[in-house]
Order: sequence, then structure tokens, then C-alpha cells
Amino acid sequence: MDKEVLKRVYSKLVELLGEERVSVAIEDRLPYSRNWNPCTRDFRALPDIVVLPKSTEEVSQVVKVAYEYKIPVTPRGGGTSMSGGSLARGGILVDMKLMDRVLEVDKENYVVRVQAGIPILRLNEELRKYGLWFPYDVESKAVATVGSVIALRSDGTFNIRYGKIENHLCSITVVTGTGEVVELGHRKTLISTSGYHLHWLFISSEGTLGIVTEAVLRVVPAPPHRDIVGFFFPSFSHGVKALVDMLKRGVLPESANLQCKNRLKFYTHAYRAKYGVEPKVPEWTEAVLFLSFAGDKDVVDFMMKKSREIVREHGGEPIEDREVLEMWWTSKHVAIEPKELRFPWEKPFIPFKQKWPDSQRTRRFGAAGVSVPVGKIQEMYRKYLEYSSKYGLEVLGMNVYFQHPNSTHVSISFAVWVGDSEEEVRNFYRYLKEMAKTAVDLGGSMSAYYGDGEVLAGINVYEHGNALKYMLKIKEVFDPAGIMNPGKKFGESRWVE
Ligand SMILES: Cc1cc2nc3c(=O)[nH]c(=O)nc-3n(C[C@H](O)[C@H](O)[C@H](O)COP(=O)(O)OP(=O)(O)OC[C@H]3O[C@@H](n4cnc5c(N)ncnc54)[C@H](O)[C@@H]3O)c2cc1C
Repeated sequence: MDKEVLKRVYSKLVELLGEERVSVAIEDRLPYSRNWNPCTRDFRALPDIVVLPKSTEEVSQVVKVAYEYKIPVTPRGGGTSMSGGSLARGGILVDMKLMDRVLEVDKENYVVRVQAGIPILRLNEELRKYGLWFPYDVESKAVATVGSVIALRSDGTFNIRYGKIENHLCSITVVTGTGEVVELGHRKTLISTSGYHLHWLFISSEGTLGIVTEAVLRVVPAPPHRDIVGFFFPSFSHGVKALVDMLKRGVLPESANLQCKNRLKFYTHAYRAKYGVEPKVPEWTEAVLFLSFAGDKDVVDFMMKKSREIVREHGGEPIEDREVLEMWWTSKHVAIEPKELRFPWEKPFIPFKQKWPDSQRTRRFGAAGVSVPVGKIQEMYRKYLEYSSKYGLEVLGMNVYFQHPNSTHVSISFAVWVGDSEEEVRNFYRYLKEMAKTAVDLGGSMSAYYGDGEVLAGINVYEHGNALKYMLKIKEVFDPAGIMNPGKKFGESRWVE
């Protein structure tokens, strides 16, 4: 940004928010220079200014200043985007973390109103006092915010029962690209046929239409009891058929994860650490299905028993070692809490130490996060093995998340280990591009849980064709100056050749 403009913008923002919540210092900007998509060791994407608003009104004033000077605005929650979605391209980075208040718990109507910067874990700690639960369990819940989950349409563990964010989102308050505050949606109800459902446009909008500042969410009573079960299968198709059969016969899990043997190893580090060996897996196993059931104990017990019967009819075998099940669950669901947070710039979050202890420094978890129709999982898995080997990437494992209520519509993470050299990073994005196009060719989508971000911007024309032109027109309505999170969804990818 031009130095004179920067000076003027900085002093206007300080006038609005005060010095402690506005910074141009390099040490304050650096923590925002990366996301969780694989990158080379010297990669940095720096904003010019970082601000920490506390209210919708403050966000609106910040965006009005940006609109006046036509400078980029990048909203950021926990910064764990896997597609470079919250990387700034200069301009103002709006850190939403101080907007973390629960504004209303309406117990009678099972809805809550929150500020969009609240992390999911914190929201659930608050809801626990009321016996309520927001069943949106992203693994990064310790830092992933409600605003980001809306902006990305993230995956959650319990979505085979509760659905994705659209099944929870009654209404939102947004600040558009001109700084205007607008209420979208239908107050406290999910059900309406009035007007256009503009709040849905903000689902997976990735901050390109505006900033979500508040949300009214449907919540549910916390279940009284939960149990877990796991099964080995000779193929992914066997596992899928067993699950389809369960749903047909009224056995409804609250979570379902189908994964390959390699991915199991990723989640059972604690077992290895304790016994010095991997958990025992039958020779013939290709796929492992983990389910959880929740409700009254007798209902849960019945469904557990019934699921075992059905799995046997489909050539699967239960995992008998309870410790493996529990370690898997802990590894997947128990996030390490951020340490005492230092206002105003937070410390990095250390995710899942139990899964890949100490490995994040040199090797990262990189994933093609796609969706394909359920009958194509086996084929997509073969492509995964082919492309990862073609680009010299070590397979970390595949995980299929069932993401739609009472159905087998899936989101799949095809993960590989990625080093931080230029060659390894370049190869990862070549792999990603091939996986993205294959998913579309198989009737699916190139992005199932982490948006397009910077990574798939431009590549996504392969999926959308001329529909992308209409999307851009919608963006222009909300963001006439094109300042909201530029470089995401539209334009050229700076990652994929
Ligand atoms: C260890 C680990 C585990 C993960 N597990 C999962 C998982 O289980 N499921 C899953 O789907 N993903 C997962 N992810 C990816 C990521 O954590 C999620 O997508 C998460 O929802 C991102 O939240 P965040 O607050 O960190 O997002 P950020 O990176 O801060 O932002 C993501 C996007 O949302 C936009 N945004 C943020 N706040 C707002 C707002 N208020 N208004 C408008 N736009 C906004 C940003 O501009 C950006 O485009 C994981 C990542 C890691 C590192």
C-alpha cells in the first residue's frame, strides 16, 4: 500500500478502535502470514494493517474506511484455512477473535445468537451450562470460529445426523463491501419461503461478499449417552453398502467415518506410543468404519447391536479392542486448547499433538478435500494412490466424512505428507489439481470443506464453467469495489500452476 495512504488509513483506524487494537508492526503482522495449506519455508503473505474489532458497528466502520481508499479487507478467524482463504494480499486484516461473545441463549426455542468470532469449542463450553450443544465438530474447533465455519461450509463429525451449516443457520448479520450492515435470513427459524435466502449465499462465500459479524444458530439438547463402534471391511464399497443398509433399516449413527488403513495409523499414535506397535488390523482389510451412536442408553445399545449384525451381513468384522476405539476417538475429537491468549495477538494453536507429534515443523498435512458420489469412492481412492505416487508424495490416508443428514453424501480428505521445499510444495499442488479435476469428472466437486480459497481460485472454472461469471456478478452486488478478500474464489491461483 502507498505509504501516504497507509498513514492516513492507520490514523483513521486508530481513531475508531484505539491504538491497542490496530497495528502496522511487523511482529504483529507476521503471525497472520500463513494458513495451514502447505507452503515453502519462506512463504509469507503479509497484511499492511491488522485490526481487532469488538462489534458489528466497528467492523462496519473499518470496512467503510477500506471502501473509501479501495484497499483489500481480509477477515480471519483461527487462521487454519487449508486453502489459503484467510491470507491477506496487503490491506487490512480483520481478526475476528475479540468478537467472541454469546449474545443470547434461547433455551425454549433451541437457538443461540453469537458474535461470529467465537470458536466452536468455546461456544460449546458456554452451551453446556444450559444442557445444549452446537453439534458442529470441526477437528480444529479450539480455534475455528462460527464465522469461518459459515464462510467455508466446513465439515463436522456429526453431520450424518445434524447436517452441514445450512441445517443450523437461521440468520446472520453481515457487513458488506461498502460497510453497510444488513440482516439476512429469518430471525430464529430455519423455515421460510419469503424473499430470497440471501444468508445462504454467505455459506462458503469465504469473506468475498462481506464479513459475517453475528449469527443465529440452531442448537440441540446435548445427548445423554454416547457409544462408539468400529469395523474392518475388505473394501470401501463393502463399508458404504453396510452403512446404506443401516440407514435403510433405521439405524442412525450420529457420526460415521470411513477410512483407509493408513489413516487409522495417523489417528492411533497414542496406541503406538503405549505399546510400540500398530493396532492389529486383519490382513484383508482395506477400509475401517467408525460410528458413534447417541441418545438414551438402551436405544444406543440397541443400535450398536443392530449395526454389528448388519456389518456381518456385509462381510465386515467389529474391532474388538476397545482401547483402539477410544484412542481413535480421543485423537479425532479432543483438541488441544490454545494456551493463555495474549491480547491482542494470539499464540499459535498446536493441533493434535497426539496425531503427528513434532512433525509440523518440517512436514505438513496436505489434503485434496473433494466430494464424489458415493459409488465413485473406490475409483477416486485408486486415483489418489496413482497421483500421490506420480508426484512422489507419501500417502497419509483417506477419510470419508458422511456430511448430509441420514444419507451417504460425502466429503473426502485424501491426505499426503508435504515437506517445505519448493519442489515438494509444487508437486503437492500438481497432485491437488489432478485430484480436483478427477473429482469433477466423476460427478463430484473439487472442494468439499475448505472452499476455493487462493488454491483453487481459477482452477474452479473447470467445475463451474460460465456459472462463475454469474457468481462474480453476485459478488459485485455485495462488494462493488472488489475489496473483500481479493484473490479468493476468483482470479488466478498463486499456488497451482
Ligand atoms: C488440525 C486441523 C484440523 C482440521 N479439521 C477440520 C475438520 O474437521 N473439518 C473441516 O471442515 N476443516 C478442518 N480443518 C480446516 C479448518 O480448520 C476449517 O476449515 C475451519 O473451519 C477454519 O476455521 P478458521 O477460523 O481457522 O478459519 P480462517 O482460516 O480464519 O478463515 C477461513 C475463511 O473464512 C473467512 N472468514 C473468517 N471469518 C469470517 C467472517 N466472520 N466472515 C466472513 N468470512 C470469514 C476467511 O476470510 C477465510 O476465507 C482443519 C484444519 C487443521 C489445521
